[in-house]
Amino acid sequence: MQEKNISIAGAGLVGSLLSLYLAKRGHKVEIFERRPDARKNLLDGGRSINLALSDRGLQALAKVGLEEKVLKEMAIPMYGRVMHSREGKLTYQPYGKEGQAINSVSRAGLNMLMMDEAEKRGVKIHFSQACADVDLENASAVYRNREGEERKVESDLLFGADGAFSAVRSIMQKTDRFSYSQEYIEHGYKELEIPAGPNGEFLLEKNALHIWPRGSYMLIALPNPDASFTCTLFFPMDGEVSFASLDTVDKARSFFEKEFADALDMMPNFDRDWQENPDSSLVIIRCFPWTRNAKVALIGDASHAIVPFYGQGMNAGFEDCFVLDRLMDEYGDDWEGLLKAYEVERKPDADAIADLAMRNFVEMRDLTGDPEFLLRKKIEVRFSEKYPEKWSPLYSLVTFSPEVRYSDAIALGKRQDELMAEIMSMPNIHENWDSPEVEERMLALAEKL
Ligand code: FAD
Repeated sequence: MQEKNISIAGAGLVGSLLSLYLAKRGHKVEIFERRPDARKNLLDGGRSINLALSDRGLQALAKVGLEEKVLKEMAIPMYGRVMHSREGKLTYQPYGKEGQAINSVSRAGLNMLMMDEAEKRGVKIHFSQACADVDLENASAVYRNREGEERKVESDLLFGADGAFSAVRSIMQKTDRFSYSQEYIEHGYKELEIPAGPNGEFLLEKNALHIWPRGSYMLIALPNPDASFTCTLFFPMDGEVSFASLDTVDKARSFFEKEFADALDMMPNFDRDWQENPDSSLVIIRCFPWTRNAKVALIGDASHAIVPFYGQGMNAGFEDCFVLDRLMDEYGDDWEGLLKAYEVERKPDADAIADLAMRNFVEMRDLTGDPEFLLRKKIEVRFSEKYPEKWSPLYSLVTFSPEVRYSDAIALGKRQDELMAEIMSMPNIHENWDSPEVEERMLALAEKL
């Protein structure tokens, strides 16, 4: 493969990983990142913000030799979800088969680890350099530092890995036949914290993702290595019950006393967190094409920003890198063919995970508290454990089956929904759910998948 000078705008999660893939192929890679070096300037006041890393992301990390390091050094496996009712009753639901887990990792920690590795492998990262303009014909770009000084950088190829509000994409948006949509959902989010207990212990089950489902909103908590939990309240931005209506910390506190009493008891810094942490928006961004002139390409959130409810945004961005790498094997120096194949292959998968993520919000906030839904899950899990080759629940396809494309998973999930509706309408299903009769019916229906 012919060595290229490749620039990447954005040293976030996806830009950093992409640089490792490109450097591995012998390309000369430079990243231009708008923010200062997080390794020197602790961002977010040192707050832990974590993400769920699952098999698609791990598969992509494995190919650049980082899977084990990440799992060993910074991941806390979460084997299932623990639902907290208003009365404080707990219900546990495993995510997959025994031993299968999603992993809570620090966003900043993972990003810094990948930047360190990238530099070790020859990638040059320039900080405080915001992409301000791009020439889509020849992959050159203008970067601006904090003092407003600009520099022009020429390259053979430019990747926009600069996130949901990508500057590179904003230039592409001005070109003919570029489709773009941006949708803010009704809900936003706020981060809160459950610190470690007095003896440095976890105050909730460590190896689980905690959910307080409350119908139209929910609170979740993911564990951190320091025994704290980062909690996120997903909540309407406006309306009768919303961030706008809880406009004083006293109102927020009495709301939590009613809705999330057990969580509030573990939040000594609730008042501070509520007031200081922003109400952040959630946006879905779709666009196409993702590449221009075989010179400029979008990747990660720059091309597909989704809501966080399937824990797949970063995983999908990592999968972009993994797919691109496979296509580099197939296409060699034919970057035109390669980039075309990349956008054509990835777009349906990005659309599928965007839809799945929105749908999972309803499942998490509403259905995880619904006995009917929990029974359906129980039947599916039991059946798929006995007949793994005949049935894999949608969650497992998305989270634990990177060999299945998101677009295939969503299609299969739709057919499974129809079949499960039949099962759930069987007489006395609540009593007979584990009977041979139900199993036989499942076997017959699974043949139709
Ligand atoms: P980003 O992480 O946004 O990185 C973009 C980088 O580009 C940043 O470093 C930014 O400073 C830089 N940049 C921006 N503009 C410019 C410019 N003009 N010039 C140069 N640099 C620029 N995903 C999961 O897989 N699992 C989860 O559990 C999960 N939880 C989430 C929870 C929340 C609340 C949210 C909001 C998202 C969550 N996600 C999760 C999604 C995940 O955060 C994103 O998909 C992921 O960060 C995308 O990575 P990226 O590198 O494409 O973009």
